[in-house]
Amino acid sequence: MIERSETNDQTNTKGGRGSRAHCRRDAIPARQAVAKPRARAAEFRFYGILNDFLPWPRHQRETVYRFDGCPGIKDPIEALGVPHTEVELILVHGRSVNFDYRLQDGDRVSVYPPFGTLDIGPLARLREKPLVPIRFIVDVNLGRLARRLRRLGHDSLYRNDYRDADIVRIAAGEHRIVLTRDRRLLHAKRIVHGYWVRAVAVDEQLDEVARRYDLDAGRPDFSRCMVCNGRLAEVDKADAWGELEPKTRLYYEVFFRCEGCRRIYWEGSHVDRMRNGRNSTAAGG
Ligand SMILES: [Zn+2]
Repeated sequence: MIERSETNDQTNTKGGRGSRAHCRRDAIPARQAVAKPRARAAEFRFYGILNDFLPWPRHQRETVYRFDGCPGIKDPIEALGVPHTEVELILVHGRSVNFDYRLQDGDRVSVYPPFGTLDIGPLARLREKPLVPIRFIVDVNLGRLARRLRRLGHDSLYRNDYRDADIVRIAAGEHRIVLTRDRRLLHAKRIVHGYWVRAVAVDEQLDEVARRYDLDAGRPDFSRCMVCNGRLAEVDKADAWGELEPKTRLYYEVFFRCEGCRRIYWEGSHVDRMRNGRNSTAAGG
């Protein structure tokens, strides 16, 4: 069933300018474009969790997208509300295409989210799998998630004063995956890997990210500082002695120091919330 939702590519101002330069003969003057209905139409169907980005009436059904010229296929997908980072596979008339594909009149487009470990065989994924080890940059709205990821040993940059432009620049420069609650951020062209975190509660957020990136969300890993993301290195108890509370001296034998902020960690500090003392580094999460 086709829903006649008259979406158009005016809602997306970020992409497609360059693409239209390649099909100028098809373009119509701007003044005329306002008055005339858009001449071409393609049909889009989004699958699985990509429906999270669509208004309810468009869930799990075809949407007609009207357009002029021949925009790159990323433009209509984002104009319909789905960030390009969430898309793993695009089929046009059943054949896989990449983001260079230009939309044609009458196209039937199927758009899929990541398949996890499912082998999609000869179909072209839109991007390489994230590099291993996976590295994140976490948006300002997900501080607790950043600490939880660090506790599991995952390199997760986070500052509560990052601006959107900082996140885009660092993600592009360091090949990091952007984790955010702000879906608009993922429309940034320079972000290649990103994920819109749906859940509000941090436990569920961690589950989501672990599922999406196939992470082991099990035991804490003493490799990364929860406070500053620095690396942890094991230190002798004697070296840490002066910085330990009496009970910590009594009950623990194995200690780690952050190479960034110099905080001391031990098993209890990473597993439980810290109770007191100047080494109360593992709070949160
Ligand atoms: Zn640190």
